[in-house]
Amino acid sequence: MLRQGFNGASFAPAARLGLLMAALAPCAPYAAESATTGTADTSAVAEAVEMPALHLLGTTVAAGTTATLTWSPGANYDGQENPRAVLVANGTSPGPVMCLTGVVHGDEHNGLEVVRRVFHSLDPNRLNGAVIGVPIVNLDGFRRGTRYLPDRRDLNRYFPGRRNGSSASRIAFSLFNDVVLRCSFLVDIHTGSFHRTNLPQLRGDLTNLDVLELSRRFGSTVILHNRGGSGTLRRAATEAGIPAVTLEAGEPLRIQDKEVRQGTRAIHNALAALGMYKRNTLWREPPPVYYQSRWVRVNGGGVLLADVRLGARVDEGDRLGTVTDPITNDMREVLSPYKGRVLGMALNQVVLPGYAAFHIGIEAAAIDPFEGADDFDGGAEPARASEPGQATDAPDRDLENSE
Ligand SMILES: [Zn+2]
Repeated sequence: MLRQGFNGASFAPAARLGLLMAALAPCAPYAAESATTGTADTSAVAEAVEMPALHLLGTTVAAGTTATLTWSPGANYDGQENPRAVLVANGTSPGPVMCLTGVVHGDEHNGLEVVRRVFHSLDPNRLNGAVIGVPIVNLDGFRRGTRYLPDRRDLNRYFPGRRNGSSASRIAFSLFNDVVLRCSFLVDIHTGSFHRTNLPQLRGDLTNLDVLELSRRFGSTVILHNRGGSGTLRRAATEAGIPAVTLEAGEPLRIQDKEVRQGTRAIHNALAALGMYKRNTLWREPPPVYYQSRWVRVNGGGVLLADVRLGARVDEGDRLGTVTDPITNDMREVLSPYKGRVLGMALNQVVLPGYAAFHIGIEAAAIDPFEGADDFDGGAEPARASEPGQATDAPDRDLENSE
């Protein structure tokens, strides 16, 4: 599958993978191909190789500059367009296009701060390729402080979208076609959902070699294998030939400095490791990779108090927390059925029986790492039947997955 590069060159995923493997010489495939698509004016070709302009959303962004563009997915209730910002940093040398998306779920705020910190730390004159950031994708949900769109749909169940589909599907279609298809790589930034928090971690389909290679560029950030649910942005992008990962960090409705710093550092690391930006402080430690994970649900109702911290390593039988009946004072222990690491967990709160409270990453041992890996959430409710390319309208589907 060929994809349009930012400077008019076409390149295939294999070329991108080759670029990944040769991070110190990342520009050769792009420079060579752009020369073949240039005009007969050789001076213009030479100039295009050195200073490619980026054409996006009807605007041309000159080499070595930054710009704030707008993307309008369509009219709102009042008939007005609902433009949202798209940040662009276009480098001075050819290279890949890294795209960053935040707030696809309107209540997951850490992503917009990660995009801000990454984008405003870049000097376009030191950049090979381009960085495109959409800090707030779901502007309607963001303004209302909710995960969902105004029609209660979850935008991240509708990618790549349909031109004439539901409102959610049209927004997804617009973002996918106007921005995402211009990317060489995509990082979609999320947080835990509904009073849960996530250890900063990457999620991607590690059976896809391009995604596997991409995921290893984020330094020592934890990696969790997961294909991604149907309709998620990263799965749709990956299926369209654009290696994509989700970066999970922290909890919703907050700006968390520690998690944001970790996420920002991970993306800085990836930009350097991809040969897009020079940095001296790369993470050297290999990332821990988890090929399976399971949610541990509570059996009692009442007050959930955790005994473990995010990122803790646990053995089978370790106490993760307790649930105490507020009336009788009866306490139930929540024990880990697995040896692994706490990748996500519920905040202390009152819970119903069956609440998914602790998300345990399980390191592969002597098992097929991909066997059963799609059962990643280990107990989310089965999805209801839905039309192809669409997700159920039920807002409580797969909430534990967060993304
Ligand atoms: Zn999310």
